[in-house]
Amino acid sequence: MSDPFVVVGGDAAGLSAASKCRRTDPERDVVVFEKGEWISYAHCGTPYFVKGEVDRLEDLLSLSPEAAEERGIDLRRGHEVVAVDTDAETVTVDAGGTTFEQPYGDLLVATGARAVSDPIEGATLDGVFTLHGLDHAAAIRAYLTPPDEFDVAALGGGDALNEPEVERYGGMTSPETVAVVGAGYVGVEMAEAFDAWDLDVHLFQRSERPVPGFGEAVGDAVTEHLRESGVTLHLGEEVVRLDGEAGHVDRVVCESGSELAVDAALVGIGIRPNTELLDDTPVELGASGAVATDAHGRTSVDGVYAAGDVAEMPHTVTGTATWDPLGLPANRAGRAIGATVGGDPTPVGSVAGTAMVKAFDLECGRTGLLDHDRAREAGFDPVSETITAGSRSGYYPGAAETTVTLTADRDTGRLLGGSIVGADRAAIRIDTLATALGGEMTVAELERQDLGYAPPFSPVWDPVLVAAKVLN
Ligand code: FAD
Repeated sequence: MSDPFVVVGGDAAGLSAASKCRRTDPERDVVVFEKGEWISYAHCGTPYFVKGEVDRLEDLLSLSPEAAEERGIDLRRGHEVVAVDTDAETVTVDAGGTTFEQPYGDLLVATGARAVSDPIEGATLDGVFTLHGLDHAAAIRAYLTPPDEFDVAALGGGDALNEPEVERYGGMTSPETVAVVGAGYVGVEMAEAFDAWDLDVHLFQRSERPVPGFGEAVGDAVTEHLRESGVTLHLGEEVVRLDGEAGHVDRVVCESGSELAVDAALVGIGIRPNTELLDDTPVELGASGAVATDAHGRTSVDGVYAAGDVAEMPHTVTGTATWDPLGLPANRAGRAIGATVGGDPTPVGSVAGTAMVKAFDLECGRTGLLDHDRAREAGFDPVSETITAGSRSGYYPGAAETTVTLTADRDTGRLLGGSIVGADRAAIRIDTLATALGGEMTVAELERQDLGYAPPFSPVWDPVLVAAKVLN
């Protein structure tokens, strides 16, 4: 094997890169090392697997190991890359006890991120979970299933599933009260999943609104809707400790001193990029702590690339490096790097932080710069307007209020960001705003876009256009 393209991490960024490289240059050797057993899986679907809407774990896989190998990828599951030597151009691989050196021609670090639970004490107690991967999702669903109904084979996943851990949870008494710590998008999605199992759900968030990255209008709407849906919100409450007896969680303790008896907790307070592999290398990290990359995903060291949740990317609005770990940018950057190392130099593009979340029957979307402080730091003079308009013609059944917030630069009128919330296909409308950001449109230009109109889908003036009219 000469000059191989070596990929560390076998999910969104890593396998997109490996597949694209093989398609671009079918002669190039491509080796993917994945430390776990799962490859090409959808983290994003795991809350819906826990909820029970997605039946089996294999439903969350997009590429099987066999299909990856048919593409000519040398896929090594259960192989952890433990060191990188950028002078020798080798990686050290731990294959379950035996180690070996693998030379590379080009190297992609696509190691993703991990869920964090620090600084909360007690996160290792039984009954406390994070959600980052299919084994976590399986363990949570096992824990929710009454022991006499539990059947590990029904979860699916075949030999990739960590069965002993999942079976341990399947044998435990099912919980009645759960604390979800952190009301970001994972916390909100998991509140809905736990509610579907008839648990008494308590959602803790240290700021005054849930989904803080989506802005005030979305946060207020989500607050009201979660309460209507039966979730107890503890806003402005910072969880500092999880207590338990006999190794099992039984209490949540907040900084304010308030406590709640629980028998399960889901900690969803954030993620951290898996950069440790590069600690002893000259590869530079950016200010966010993720790997600094250029427009083609190259790091500061020749022949070493990084993509996905482990890497920074240029921000669509500011043009400066940002860390917005999301699924599409990971896939897109991986694919671009695969093309580049295959001989077709392709930029990774930019990231606007375009995100959507479903909170029970409410849909939310956000993109770009919403926060005025962040916009000012980037040199803009931000101004925002929030409007509420119907999602369809008023006379057509199913119309629902849709609230749109737009933020623009006062001097130039350039659109900087926006958010949307509503019950009728609100989230997907964020793509209009994301496209406008990508095109560096002003609010006036957005207002003049020729969006579709027919009563079942939209009023004559789509809520996005109404917002642009008001802000312009
Ligand atoms: P990952 O998917 O984390 O894959 C990294 C892989 O690298 C892992 O398989 C890991 O085992 C492997 N690895 C790590 N270190 C090593 C090593 N040293 N050696 C070998 N292998 C290694 N994004 C959205 O855009 N929309 C959503 O709705 C959404 N929902 C989400 C819901 C949840 C619960 C979670 C956790 C994430 C969600 N995301 C969502 C984020 C999205 O899943 C990630 O942005 C995306 O998976 C990142 O892909 P990646 O390849 O960079 O990293």
